[in-house]
Amino acid sequence: MKPAELMLLLIAFIRTRWGFRFRDRASLERWQNKQLARFIGGRLRNAAFYSACTARNITTLPIVDKAITLAQFSAFNTLGVSLEDATNAALVAERSLDKAAAVETGWTAGLSSGTQGPRGVFLASARERATWAGILVARTLDRDLLKDILLRRAPLRVAFFLRANSALYTTLKSRRIDFRFFDLQRGAFAHVDALTQFEPDVLVAPASVLAWLAGESLAGRAAISPRKIISVAEVLEPDDEHRIRLAFHQPVHQLYQCTEGFLAYTCAEGALHLNEEFVHIEPEWIDESHTRFRPVITDFTRRTQMFVRYRLDDILRVRAEPCACGRFTRALAAIDGRLDDVLWFPTTDHTRLLPLFPDVLRHTFARNANDVADYRIEQQGDTLHLAVTGNDAVFDAIKLAVDKLAISQGMEPLPWLRVEMQEPRPAAKRRRIVCVARPLAFSVRIPDDA
Ligand SMILES: [Zn+2]
Repeated sequence: MKPAELMLLLIAFIRTRWGFRFRDRASLERWQNKQLARFIGGRLRNAAFYSACTARNITTLPIVDKAITLAQFSAFNTLGVSLEDATNAALVAERSLDKAAAVETGWTAGLSSGTQGPRGVFLASARERATWAGILVARTLDRDLLKDILLRRAPLRVAFFLRANSALYTTLKSRRIDFRFFDLQRGAFAHVDALTQFEPDVLVAPASVLAWLAGESLAGRAAISPRKIISVAEVLEPDDEHRIRLAFHQPVHQLYQCTEGFLAYTCAEGALHLNEEFVHIEPEWIDESHTRFRPVITDFTRRTQMFVRYRLDDILRVRAEPCACGRFTRALAAIDGRLDDVLWFPTTDHTRLLPLFPDVLRHTFARNANDVADYRIEQQGDTLHLAVTGNDAVFDAIKLAVDKLAISQGMEPLPWLRVEMQEPRPAAKRRRIVCVARPLAFSVRIPDDA
């Protein structure tokens, strides 16, 4: 890292750590609106898609999504880099990260690890990467770990389990931070010995990998005792969280970081806060009680790639109680998954479909299926395919609980099919609840009572 970039990292760190003191939510929003106005009237227009934009107010800009921004990729970045060039650069970077530094082009590209649809691509300048690293360190490392970085003779050891290495994360690699990447394409089990030898201070991995490592640790096969555990890239399921806490005696922190930006993090009080000091997040409510929303994000700090009124497919659930940490940014109860994790049931009069949200389903499973080690529920039109570890009694208990839940919400239960639990591919993102296809509204069969 060049001295100028290190400086940017430090500035971002200090500002994130000790700046941004707001009196209340209203003052945070006023400050945010000022940043947005400056961004929309200035840097945004350097991207071709917005060059003729006369809007001053965010709400008058068009809402975009992954399909639109990938189709017109070069118009959404200020360097005019094409999707093909960015993708090629990202693939080269993925392969060469551990060997030599990527070719210095002034920008870095990376690919998302998503398994659904086309992969997302990000572009960032060296400056942006440095700033991002400063924000990340400020948001994730507590005082003791920071003290270690500064004062301990040995560097801080950070173990990172990812589906693909990312130039973004290796920005943090330095004399003070020993950053080790563990490639999930090879399967988590292939790394246990190396991980044990590495003795990570900080362990970062998808929730299902953390839970698996916790199981190995509890069984005495992985002697590690990380001081900070960070879950990324997958929904943190309640049973996994419980097992990770049990094994490592540490709370599980979450980092909601994707191609589109650094969107949320767990604070010292354990609440998951939106990163609203850097990203404007409009809630698009998906339920009547305004507890779940789809985020429409605008990153007003970017200079290279623009994510402006960009609609994500995720479902975020708001936390009802305020957080004691003193921040006025919105706190989340959870990231519940993607929009296609919602199952759809017909109403009892078969006139329309109603959503059954994944958090409600998870809660039902947690309450009624204590002995289930793992499950997967998949909606295939008007049939629910369920794979569970356990005997028929377990399957029947879950079936009954979900049917009851549906009836209590004015829905018609759907027929079930028990299917085999599939062994997941090593690097596959785990999704326990998936709607492959919604029922065709008028072809819904009434389940047979017989
Ligand atoms: Zn908090």
